[in-house]
Amino acid sequence: MNKLTTLLTLSFLLVLTACQPKQETENAAEPPTKEWSIALHGGAGYVSPDMPEDRKQAYMESLEEALAIGSEILANGGSALDAIEKTVNYMEDNELYNAGKGAVFTSEGRNELDAAIMDGSTLNAGAITGVTTVKNPITLARRVMTDSKHVFFSADGAETFADETDVERVDPEYFYTERRYQSLQRAKAEEQESNLIETNEEKEWKYGTVGAVAKDVNGNLAAATSTGGMTNKKYGRVGDVPIIGSGTYANNLVAVSATGWGEKIMLNVSAHTLAAHMEFQEATLQQSMDYLVDEVLEPGDAGFIAVDKYGNFSMKTNTGSMFRAATDSEGNKEIGIW
Ligand code: ASP
Repeated sequence: MNKLTTLLTLSFLLVLTACQPKQETENAAEPPTKEWSIALHGGAGYVSPDMPEDRKQAYMESLEEALAIGSEILANGGSALDAIEKTVNYMEDNELYNAGKGAVFTSEGRNELDAAIMDGSTLNAGAITGVTTVKNPITLARRVMTDSKHVFFSADGAETFADETDVERVDPEYFYTERRYQSLQRAKAEEQESNLIETNEEKEWKYGTVGAVAKDVNGNLAAATSTGGMTNKKYGRVGDVPIIGSGTYANNLVAVSATGWGEKIMLNVSAHTLAAHMEFQEATLQQSMDYLVDEVLEPGDAGFIAVDKYGNFSMKTNTGSMFRAATDSEGNKEIGIW
C-alpha cells in the first residue's frame, strides 16, 4: 500500500514537472504588452534634406505637439478613438499638412477633403469624401461611424449628413493657403509640358496627408486618416484614404494608416493587406510592414504607420521621407522625417 502511494505520488510529480516547462514556453512566446501606444504621420513623399532649417523645425515641433496630444489622452486612460481623433484634429488645423486647413487644390481650384476612422474593437468605421465646408473631416467621419447606419458618405450627401450634426463648418475659403495654391499652378504648368494626366514624379505634390493609430489601456485599437488628396486631382477623384482597408484599417490585432500615392495604395488594398499578412502568416508587425512596403508596393509608392495589439509600433516608407512620430507607455519614442 505504501509502495503504491509513493509510486502514485512520484508519477504525479513527474506529470507536473513535464507540464511545467511547456507552460513557460507558451508564456514566453507571448510578447509583453505595452499599456498604450500611438503613432502618427504627416504624409509620405520626398522632401529634400536641404529643406530650410526653420521649416524643418516647424515640422518637428508640430509632430512633437501632435504626439503629446494623443499620448496624454492615452496615458490618462482615454480611448484609442479619442486619442487619434484629437491628434488628427490638431494636424487638420495646422496648415503645414495636407488635411483640413492647408489641404491641396483640385484641378478646378477647390479643396475637397477625404477622411476615415475605424474602431478595431467593433470593426465599425466611418468615411467621407469630397467635403468642402467641414473644418475637421475626421470628426465628421467619426459621426458617420457612430451616428449613422452607413459607413461612407460622398460630397453633397456628406455635407447633408454634416448639416444634421454639430460639427464645425467653415466657408470653403478657409482652406485656402497660398503655398498649396502655388503648388497647383506648378502642377498645371508641368502637366501641360509633359502632357500627362498623372506621373509618379508628381509625388512631391502629395505629401501632407495625416493619420494616427493607437492602442489604449483597454486593449482597443483604432486608426484614422485625413487628407486633401493629391494636388491637381481631377473631378470627383477619390483616393485611398476614405476607402476602408486601403488607406485606413483597424481590427483587434493591428491598426494601420497609409500615405502616399493613393491609386497604388488602393490597388493593393494596402492597410488590410498588412493586417491579413499578420493574421494568416502569423507574422510580427515588423515582418508584415516589411512585406507590404518592400514586396507588395513599389519604391516611391507609399508609407504606413501601425500599432499592434501588444502596443508595438512600426512606421515605414519607400518614398524617401515621411513626417512621423510614435511613442508608448514604456517611454519608447521616435520622431523623424527621413
Ligand atoms: N494618399 C493620399 C491620396 O492619394 C495622398 C497622401 O497620402 O498624401 O489621396
